[in-house]
Amino acid sequence: MPSKLYPVLYEVAKAVNSTLVLDDVLRTIVETTGRAVGVKGCSLLLLSPDRSELWHAASWGLSPDYIGKGPIRVTDHFTSLLHGQPQFVRDITHPKAAAQYPEAARQEGIASVYSVPLMLRGDAVGILRLYSATPRRCTPHERQFLDGVADLAAVAIENARNYEALRKDYEEARHTLLEWYASRSAERQRGARPVAFAHPSEEEFARMLDFYRVRWQYEPRSFPLQWDGERIVEMFTPDFYLPDHDLYIELTTMRQRLVTQKNRKLRRLRELYPDITIRLLYRKDYHRLLAKYGYRPLGEDERAADVGRVLFSPLELAERIKEVGQQISEDYAGRSPVLVGVLKGVIVFMADLMRHISVPLEVDFMAISSLGPDAQGAVRIVKDVTRTIRGRDVLVVEDIVDTGMTLNYLLHHLQSFRPASIEVCTLLDKRARRLVPIPIKYVAFEVPDEFVVGYGLDYQEQYRHLPFIGVLRGEEAGGDVAGAGAPQPAQQGAGEPDARSALAGALPQGA
Ligand code: 5GP
Repeated sequence: MPSKLYPVLYEVAKAVNSTLVLDDVLRTIVETTGRAVGVKGCSLLLLSPDRSELWHAASWGLSPDYIGKGPIRVTDHFTSLLHGQPQFVRDITHPKAAAQYPEAARQEGIASVYSVPLMLRGDAVGILRLYSATPRRCTPHERQFLDGVADLAAVAIENARNYEALRKDYEEARHTLLEWYASRSAERQRGARPVAFAHPSEEEFARMLDFYRVRWQYEPRSFPLQWDGERIVEMFTPDFYLPDHDLYIELTTMRQRLVTQKNRKLRRLRELYPDITIRLLYRKDYHRLLAKYGYRPLGEDERAADVGRVLFSPLELAERIKEVGQQISEDYAGRSPVLVGVLKGVIVFMADLMRHISVPLEVDFMAISSLGPDAQGAVRIVKDVTRTIRGRDVLVVEDIVDTGMTLNYLLHHLQSFRPASIEVCTLLDKRARRLVPIPIKYVAFEVPDEFVVGYGLDYQEQYRHLPFIGVLRGEEAGGDVAGAGAPQPAQQGAGEPDARSALAGALPQGA
């Protein structure tokens, strides 16, 4: 192909690639092609859906009269063309050419017509036509070029069709999504409106579920229990449904008469609906039930006394950590990483995470400490890795990345052992406070700029054993917290082995 045609082919490819507006693409194709070959006109004709006619889709260099002369019927003359063979007609006005509009061609000043089929996976969808004013054959290079243009035009048409189909699917999906949103926000609104609880104990139970972020629905469903012919004569409506646990809850008071009646109804309900799990709870029972799922009643859980808000419930933590573990297992398939946990905050997360990783792995731990308040924040490694990590795939596991300084320091240190790879997995990412950019491959949760505790994370060595992640209640916590607002990591146990304090200034050179 002569080198002048290459840029044209590139231009056509670019047009196909840059827009999904089919008319624009086809117009660019006919114009650039006509100009490049140096002919009078160029057009693209597409087959009608029943393949009986060819319609002008785009043209260049032809008068509106010629384009508007009417559709071209697909006669036997088109058979080989529509089976993939280009066609050259030296003189379109000659009777032997059997043109459908010879007079229009003469008036337009057209002599030769060269047609190339637009093929899509063996099927013609249309033709590309070049019109010259004097009888003229295309050179083999030009023919090759035109084949390429025809292929690109076919791709453009296919793209536009796919796009159209996708858009329809998308519209349908969007509609479904909107419906879903609508029902969800209706649900939310219902949730936002104060629920009219039938009994104060129900409200207390709901408040407790809210605190621990256990989702609930109040009296969401009634179960028919008895019929008189078609007519339902007895129903039972459990007080709560906990979708996370697929569990119905009926709360009850101690009044024996009511309990006996409820027990009867429950027996009947279990007979009729064996797939339903329902529990009848006395007040003391629901405290026990919540404890079973890692929650304790508000006010009775000393550990949670200073917690103002639960950010991630035990269930949310478990589900997300499972996902992260599965992702790591996929990414490390065929390898055996060394998980390096950063003590102490990481212990609970690391223990749960590693049980969801299916590839063989080893574990190691590091601990760092500030040298104390006088040391101007110089950081010290008080416990280094004990495994040989040279040439190994290292996955550093952190509880929380805040400014990023701790991790930056540790990564530089670990890099000096020349591992094969080094990645980071953190339970929490407090991105808003980042000072040093750290590449973190796995983040279980992002957290707002608030001081969080629980699930391994401490405030002055407390709260590590909370089964959830929560935010301390400033006003009700001890003077330290109340005075300082959200406690800063730099304040926790400076000088103690686990302190990550005062890392500012401890960055290695060039970090
Ligand atoms: P960075 O060096 O990224 O600023 O700090 C990371 C360390 O600070 C964490 O490993 C953790 O010990 C501590 N830290 C930062 N934010 C929090 C927080 O919200 N809660 C707790 N308990 N520790 C935090």
